[in-house]
Amino acid sequence: MKDTICPVCGEAAKIKPIAKAFGRGEMLLVVEDIPLIVCRHCHEQYITAETLHEIERLQQNKMHQKRLIQVEDFAA
Ligand SMILES: [Zn+2]
Repeated sequence: MKDTICPVCGEAAKIKPIAKAFGRGEMLLVVEDIPLIVCRHCHEQYITAETLHEIERLQQNKMHQKRLIQVEDFAA
């Protein structure tokens, strides 16, 4: 994990790559390696506006690709 500065308290924070699902149903998009800023000082978890904008762009691309993602439900 790389170091960065927490946007909330200004202390040193870590960048943790996470996978996150956006949307639902046919519009479901799973994005991996999203840089999540995790602050150990104030416990804030933060995704930058720039990153969210990039995810929006990926969602728009997906509308053209029509790639199907299988989702399993573990609830019995
Ligand atoms: Zn902080």
